[in-house]
Amino acid sequence: MKKKVGFIGWRGMVGSVLLKRMLEEKDFLYIKSIFFSTSQIGEKNPKFSNFFFPGFLKDAYNIEELKKLDIIITCQGSLYTQKVFPILRASGWSGYWIDAAADLRMNKDSLIVLDPINHFHIKNAIRSGIKTFIGGNCTVSLMMLALGGLFRKNLIEWISFSTYQAASGAGSKYIKELLKQMNFLNQYLSKKSTFAQSILKIEKNVTNIIKDSNFPKKNFLIPLILNLIPWIDSNMSNGQSKEEWKMESETNKILSYQKNKRILVDGTCIRVSSLRCHSQSFVIKLKKNIDLNRIEEILSNDNKWVQVIPNNKESTLNELTPLSVTGTLKIPIGRLRKLSIGPKYLSAFTVGDQLLWGAAEPLRRMLKFLI
Ligand code: NAP
Repeated sequence: MKKKVGFIGWRGMVGSVLLKRMLEEKDFLYIKSIFFSTSQIGEKNPKFSNFFFPGFLKDAYNIEELKKLDIIITCQGSLYTQKVFPILRASGWSGYWIDAAADLRMNKDSLIVLDPINHFHIKNAIRSGIKTFIGGNCTVSLMMLALGGLFRKNLIEWISFSTYQAASGAGSKYIKELLKQMNFLNQYLSKKSTFAQSILKIEKNVTNIIKDSNFPKKNFLIPLILNLIPWIDSNMSNGQSKEEWKMESETNKILSYQKNKRILVDGTCIRVSSLRCHSQSFVIKLKKNIDLNRIEEILSNDNKWVQVIPNNKESTLNELTPLSVTGTLKIPIGRLRKLSIGPKYLSAFTVGDQLLWGAAEPLRRMLKFLI
């Protein structure tokens, strides 16, 4: 009998990418899909050109309806998980919970899923009765896929990173705000007279416009266009942002590493105005001096999505930017070179679509393991 799978948060950025991938892979043929909403209860189920789901959206807060499901897959976000998950489990529901939100990732009863890296642990977890499977933080998953070969061969002593994270990583409200910011500025830029002014005058006027109190910034809190934000998520007590804290803690949990084997991963997470796709720059201290050709071989042989990009300007501009990766499952890694600090220090740059491998794809693949 087909498993009953409930979809929550399917209208958001991660949820809609998940549905698109499931349609492409024909996953819906193998399950009975039930759609929920927190805001549009009673509206029609989603409809696509090649597939439609009869019926109407159910209430995502109705515990009795949720209890009828074998599997719940939620991309709704933290508030929903915090509100519903404990009540549902306390009610005796023992189905599988698959979630994109961060809340349950570090729970001892849950596993962070990224099967090209931790397939073995996922299979073991299913066998041992784990029922809660959570997608990793987007930058963590993308980093681990890019550097998978070095992790697998246990060649990394530590990683220092700088991230360049797309506006869409924060959700649909933020992407709309980024576009509104562009529109606000465009009112000045689209005037014919603007470009007749001296460049310093234009620069001053643009700065004044983005600093204007009416500039749209309710979500980002400050302008993102022509700017960047070197803080993502909440404060930790040690000076890290929560996004930075996730890099080391989630990496080690995905690898199932205990305290004595931990890989150190630390750096700065930065929001930039890329539309989609997160980029990351790494300094990696290797455990031993390995030839660069061998490193490239280890990286490219690890999984079928990673691609080593030759370290030259043309390849970098064509294949190692958010725009060249958007909407694909590719994980290019380039700018690979040994740093002048010493032969064990490797520099690398990677880009990945944070809505695909960074969010929806690990959840979709987890669902497939269960059905
Ligand atoms: P989102 O785009 O803000 O969507 C979340 C929910 O907001 C939707 O399911 C929808 O729920 C509601 N919503 C309200 N107005 C909407 C509108 N105009 N368009 C679409 N949805 C609207 O959030 P998200 O980026 O998908 O993130 C969901 C979860 O995944 C979060 O926990 C996030 O941290 C995590 N995550 C996100 C990313 C990313 O790149 N964005 C990556 C990894 C993990 P109703 O239909 O019930 O109203």
